[in-house]
Amino acid sequence: MTDQATESENAEAVTESNPCLSCGACCAHFRVSFYFGELAGEMGGWVPVELTSKVNDFRAAMKGTEAGHGRCVALRGELGKGGVSCSIYQNRPTPCREFDAWLADGTPNPDCQRLRAQLGLAPLPALD
Ligand code: SF4
Repeated sequence: MTDQATESENAEAVTESNPCLSCGACCAHFRVSFYFGELAGEMGGWVPVELTSKVNDFRAAMKGTEAGHGRCVALRGELGKGGVSCSIYQNRPTPCREFDAWLADGTPNPDCQRLRAQLGLAPLPALD
C-alpha cells in the first residue's frame, strides 16, 4: 500500500516536471517525416527502419503518422494519461527532438496548448 502510494507520488512528480509524460498529443497529430539519412542501418542513422514508411526517395515518416492525425507506432500509453511515452525516445527522429513544449522565450508552444485543450488537459504555464 505504502509502496503504491510512493510510486504514484513519484509518477505525479515526474509528470509535473515534464508535461509530455501525461500528454502525447503531438505524437498522434502531426505527420512525422524526416530526411532518410536518419534511418538506422546502411544510412548510418538511428531511427528503427521497421517503424517507418518511405515517403519518397529522400524522406521517411513514422508509421501511423503518414497522413497526419494518426498515432505514431512508437507511442506507448494512453493519450492524456500519466505514463504515455515514446518507446524509441533515444532514437527518435529530428522533428520529435525539435518539438518543444515551450518556446525559447519561455512561452508555451501554441501547438501544445491547442492539442492539450483537445485532450481536455490544462494549458501549460509560461516559464519564469
Ligand atoms: S517517434 Fe516518439 S516522439 Fe516521435 S512521434 Fe513517435 S512516439 Fe512521438
